[in-house]
Amino acid sequence: MRVGITTTVPVEVILAGGHTPVDLNNLFITHPERDELIARAEQDGFPANLCAWIKGIYAAVISEGIDEVIGVTRGDCSSTEKLLEVLRLKGFRTVPFAYPADRDRGALTIEIEKLSRHYGASAKAIAGMRERLHRLRQKLARLDELTWQEGKVFGAENHLWLVSASDFNRDPDRLEQDLDQFLAQAESRPPRKARFRLAYVGVPPIWDDLYQVIESQDAAVVFNETQRQFAMLDDSGALADQYARYTYPYDTESRALDIRSECRQRGVQGVVHYAQTFCHRQVEAIVFRKTLGLPVLSLEGDRPGPVDIRTLTRLQAFLEMLSQ
Ligand code: SF4
Repeated sequence: MRVGITTTVPVEVILAGGHTPVDLNNLFITHPERDELIARAEQDGFPANLCAWIKGIYAAVISEGIDEVIGVTRGDCSSTEKLLEVLRLKGFRTVPFAYPADRDRGALTIEIEKLSRHYGASAKAIAGMRERLHRLRQKLARLDELTWQEGKVFGAENHLWLVSASDFNRDPDRLEQDLDQFLAQAESRPPRKARFRLAYVGVPPIWDDLYQVIESQDAAVVFNETQRQFAMLDDSGALADQYARYTYPYDTESRALDIRSECRQRGVQGVVHYAQTFCHRQVEAIVFRKTLGLPVLSLEGDRPGPVDIRTLTRLQAFLEMLSQ
């Protein structure tokens, strides 16, 4: 069964049950007709002043033959519950998954067990899948090191590889083969040194070329916050421990602690904080500005496509400020 996911969920369970996870965000953003997907959602009644990702996800489910959708009803998006309601009206099966606000291991264990029963995944099969994915996650950790320690992997590449771990590109074996090839090639690259070292925090950008635009200004993104969280490079302990350590679904202050510590270790000079137009997560900027202890540039994107001139100008002004 093709199981659509609205954000990162315990993917080990879906795979261990013999199903194929499909990250609906990735499906939407790489879709050749993504503008039409947004238009279709609006024709079906989704308002213009709603986040484009939600509309894209909705239309991608309808047009791409997804059998069932797991929606994260707590810990991700304020619109997911309503999205699930509309999908049910359209005849799709939906499965709710909630990250407990207080990270309670017991509550998280119950959520994972519910998912395991639903997808017919035994404890043994899940343990086997975790072992199998551990090898892949270690390789992603090496890719991350090559990004910030050795300057051999670009921020855009780091983003794409880490973000693909949400559903392991629907095929962990093929992803690992591709990753092996990429790592072999990246290891042999000469190290690169950019004038500025930046962190990227927030949900992945809806723009296609933000990383390339940053690179063109002699700046390197050496830390991708949410993408690294999606990849769960530390998968030790019980499955509930792994998903309780995952910072993205919980409070912004804990996320800020992780960001601060990674920024220190990676020698980051400034933070690019991206938020989506019409997203409640824009409010996180208040916490980041107060707690990160680094200059923060807040960017906002609406529709898929290239970075606009105003954003480029703001980025240039930010880098100019960092150079003083
Ligand atoms: S960007 Fe914000 S509003 Fe849009 S899907 Fe993600 S969490 Fe929801």
